[in-house]
Amino acid sequence: MADRSPRLGDVIDDYCPRCRLLLNHDVTSLFGDVVAKVTCRTCHNAHDYRHAQVPAKRKSSRQPDKKSLMDQVLASMPKPPEPPLAPSAARPQKRDLWAEVERLKGRKGPA
Ligand SMILES: [Zn+2]
Repeated sequence: MADRSPRLGDVIDDYCPRCRLLLNHDVTSLFGDVVAKVTCRTCHNAHDYRHAQVPAKRKSSRQPDKKSLMDQVLASMPKPPEPPLAPSAARPQKRDLWAEVERLKGRKGPA
């Protein structure tokens, strides 16, 4: 028996993919007694409930050193030297994400 079932409008901790932080969220959708969707109280981004788990770093995120170096380059230049890549072209492995979601779901509930 859980202490109490979640209800719509409850405030719970969850990971916000936009803020990339564990933050307060409103419960906006339930699936039975399980929280299905939440809305970040900080940026109002609605997303699937992630069981307050911070996802592992993605393969596509390269070394943080490189990004800070890129920031330095951008800061010192009036314009970025390269045009931005299309996000869809930069991420061909979308299936890995779903596999990870399934793994997280399977790990969470024994029943
Ligand atoms: Zn947020």
